[in-house]
Amino acid sequence: MPGGYSYSYKGTNGFTEHALVSLGVITDVIQWGREKGLNDPKAQLNKVIEEVGEIAHEITRNHYDLEALEQPDELCDAIGDALVTIIILSDILNLDPIACLEEAYGAISGREGDTVNGTFVKKDNKEPLRDMVRKWKETKDISLAHDICELLAQE
Ligand SMILES: [Mg+2]
Repeated sequence: MPGGYSYSYKGTNGFTEHALVSLGVITDVIQWGREKGLNDPKAQLNKVIEEVGEIAHEITRNHYDLEALEQPDELCDAIGDALVTIIILSDILNLDPIACLEEAYGAISGREGDTVNGTFVKKDNKEPLRDMVRKWKETKDISLAHDICELLAQE
């Protein structure tokens, strides 16, 4: 285990103390990618897919134990490698990976929905509109037009 710290993150904020003080590693990864001359987005995308595939390899072979305090090294390696490739890809594309992450979290954090079979399913806010349009098409009831317009104005 590199550095002698635990891979598991049982803290309330989802990070080990080590991870919180190690966010500077992102700039180290970016610097490393630049020093190695990694500048081809398509080649880097291939690396992202390859490393994400390694995560799938570990997960699908059940090389993890959610009850254990420490994740197996192979799974940690796979996730770490995937993060490295995505950080470098974002730099190649002249995007700040932290800004991208913050943007993504900003978008999902207020999202409504339910977790179904372990997957978050976004609430379909357009379903009432689709229902009303369906009803209007069937009935041609012009009074529905007002309600449809109001729903569209909320978009
Ligand atoms: Mg790897």
